[in-house]
Amino acid sequence: MHESCGVFGVYAPGIDIARLIFFALFALQHRGQESAGIAVTDGGEIKIHTNTGLVSQAFTENSLALLKGYIGIGHNRYSTRGSSKPANAQPIIAKSEGLTLALAHNGNILNAKLLHDELQERGYSFRASTDAEVIANLILASPGKDWKGKIKHAMRRIQGAYSLTIMTQDELIGVRDPMGVRPLCLGTVDSGWVIASESCALDHIGAQFIREIEPGEIVLIDSKGVKSFEGKSDKKALCIFEYIYFARPDSTIQGRLLYQARQAMGEILAQEYPVDADLVMGVPDSATVAGISYSSASGIPYCEGLLKNRYVGRTFIEPDQRIRELGVQLKFNPLGKIIAGKRLVVVDDSIVRGTTTPRVVSLLRKAGAKEVHLRICAPPIRYPCFFGVDMATKWELIAAKKTVPEIRDYLSADSLGYLSLDGLIRAVDLPSDIFCLACFTGEYPIPVQIEMDKLALESLPQEELSEIKG
Ligand code: SF4
Repeated sequence: MHESCGVFGVYAPGIDIARLIFFALFALQHRGQESAGIAVTDGGEIKIHTNTGLVSQAFTENSLALLKGYIGIGHNRYSTRGSSKPANAQPIIAKSEGLTLALAHNGNILNAKLLHDELQERGYSFRASTDAEVIANLILASPGKDWKGKIKHAMRRIQGAYSLTIMTQDELIGVRDPMGVRPLCLGTVDSGWVIASESCALDHIGAQFIREIEPGEIVLIDSKGVKSFEGKSDKKALCIFEYIYFARPDSTIQGRLLYQARQAMGEILAQEYPVDADLVMGVPDSATVAGISYSSASGIPYCEGLLKNRYVGRTFIEPDQRIRELGVQLKFNPLGKIIAGKRLVVVDDSIVRGTTTPRVVSLLRKAGAKEVHLRICAPPIRYPCFFGVDMATKWELIAAKKTVPEIRDYLSADSLGYLSLDGLIRAVDLPSDIFCLACFTGEYPIPVQIEMDKLALESLPQEELSEIKG
């Protein structure tokens, strides 16, 4: 499953902000590994460096040394829209009629094509193929006497998910879409301010968490301090996968530490799907916490049955299916001496296409596991995501095509238990109506007609399309 980007911003006179952004992006590396970029300004020209690869590969001492300024934004990218070509790296800079802004985006815009074509007709040029460029040009093209006015107007036109950090020549701006699909938080660092996708980025750079930016809110930071402009939010739809998988366990979203939410997922899985077994293990790293708590709740000892090669990166960074399949073997090494002859409970975060899990089961069996009982920290994913998670089209989702017993057989598992939706909500311990649960329920927080038309154009089988349209 693919997530789409980490964003960061800082307004801090007197600090080496390029290095600060670099380390914040390091902390947000899990949100995107295709490219990274930093843009800064000292009130004059905007300086920018973007590059493909991990944060550690994208910058050098020299490139950071050139990024002098007191306002800056940064971005880690995983592409959901637009290819992974270097031109799609963010932040992007857009200019029009004497105005300049740099922008970094996490999310997915449903009506991007429509807005892109309209802006192109009006003479706005596009260098890349990202939603970020559409949003930036839309802000420039929108009426309004100041940035706040322009952004507010643009927000009325954009449909979809967006958490943004924006830099003008004298302001840092944070924006979250009215549904609040992707997280965004505000903090302080020394006498300055920071905005980040996740609170873990603040911790690493010694910043203090102040609060989350609310759905629909615009936060504007300049020499006079912070101003907040609350927007209209009819329907909140925070992506619940932030709790299951995307965000780091040491981040806090909506006051809930993700580590604790994942602990509760493991506990509830143990209650919902008990089994006689010898050892419990979590698939590292995203299911480790849930695996340990399944073990405590069930009384079955925990073990590290799979060792992860941490330097290979996440399997999903490989956009090619053949490489992705190889990636599982490159990534995990089973501990044969520990698991041979044992009945294993294997806790994993989710099953999307069902391409990775059978390879994990096969690795464990080849290493001598006697039984493999899969426990999954999410309900079956039956519907695609249109809000920035590149998980698959509906016809690629294994749970859209098969029943749970059929999936169990397909995965060659001895048993399979998916956390119930009710169990998931209890684990997260927040009101269910603040979440997007669409990939489990098919109930999207906004209409997805535009995206479905795109799917039709991409030759989705007609029967599948009718089923999605329901
Ligand atoms: S559809 Fe699923 S993955 Fe996408 S935003 Fe909603 S909960 Fe998250």
